[in-house]
Amino acid sequence: MTSAARSLPAGGPSVTWLGHATAVAELGASRVLFDPLLRSRTRRAGAVDAVLITHTHVDHLNRWSLKAVDRRAHLVVPRGARYIVEDLGFANVSELAAGAQLEIGDLQITAVPTRHDFGRWSKRAELEAIGYVVSAGGATLHHAGDVDFSDHAVFDDIGRRFDLAASLLPIGGMMPVWYYRARRAKLDRGVHIDPDCALDIYERLGARALVPVHWGTLHLPFGLPSMPRRRLEKIALAKGASGVHILAHGERMNLARGELAGSSIGAELQNAVEP
Ligand SMILES: [Zn+2]
Ligand SMILES: [Zn+2]
Repeated sequence: MTSAARSLPAGGPSVTWLGHATAVAELGASRVLFDPLLRSRTRRAGAVDAVLITHTHVDHLNRWSLKAVDRRAHLVVPRGARYIVEDLGFANVSELAAGAQLEIGDLQITAVPTRHDFGRWSKRAELEAIGYVVSAGGATLHHAGDVDFSDHAVFDDIGRRFDLAASLLPIGGMMPVWYYRARRAKLDRGVHIDPDCALDIYERLGARALVPVHWGTLHLPFGLPSMPRRRLEKIALAKGASGVHILAHGERMNLARGELAGSSIGAELQNAVEP
């Protein structure tokens, strides 16, 4: 058992949203942190056994935030990204390409494909954007990373392959919902999906819960930061979609029971999202 595991709170497998794409999950005897952003929030995740990075955009692979992580954690980055983190002092760094697997403690980690218009941002052609499926203790969690409007059949495949307790899916970006929808209308794939598309991907995955991320944290002042959340609530209601769990920053969801478990991280992160 690791040092991180000894500090596990009781209550079963869970995931806590820490804002943007950052989340910490408790699975089996281990704790895993996704895409840590902002040092104060990274510290609030506490000791973790693994840190999983979905791609090298600065809001996902953030060196300044990674410096707030205990270097005993095993850091996992997409193939080709090791050079960005190798001076940070992590004892273990692994690169994964989509389809590759890794065990860290009792965590079964699979890098899975996503769709993110990455090439035009990337300086190195071999860099890829990935998502992760992580299983331990009978619970399986999916983090999609960032997603654009291109072909989403990859999510059908992930849904066929894994029995997902929950999926963390992006529903916004720095710009308002209408901007991404306009991009979609031009069929240029855009950079980020809208809440409608996230709900469609949720159905493709067949996950029992959708936890929306990548909203209400970083945004430009062209609309209410709550816009993606409001749209998701509206369409989930209209479609009768169940299992949509909108968390506040710092709020935890129990993956076994599919219900909110209250704040595990600290009340001060609560209400960071505008109503
Ligand atoms: Zn990105
Ligand atoms: Zn992003």
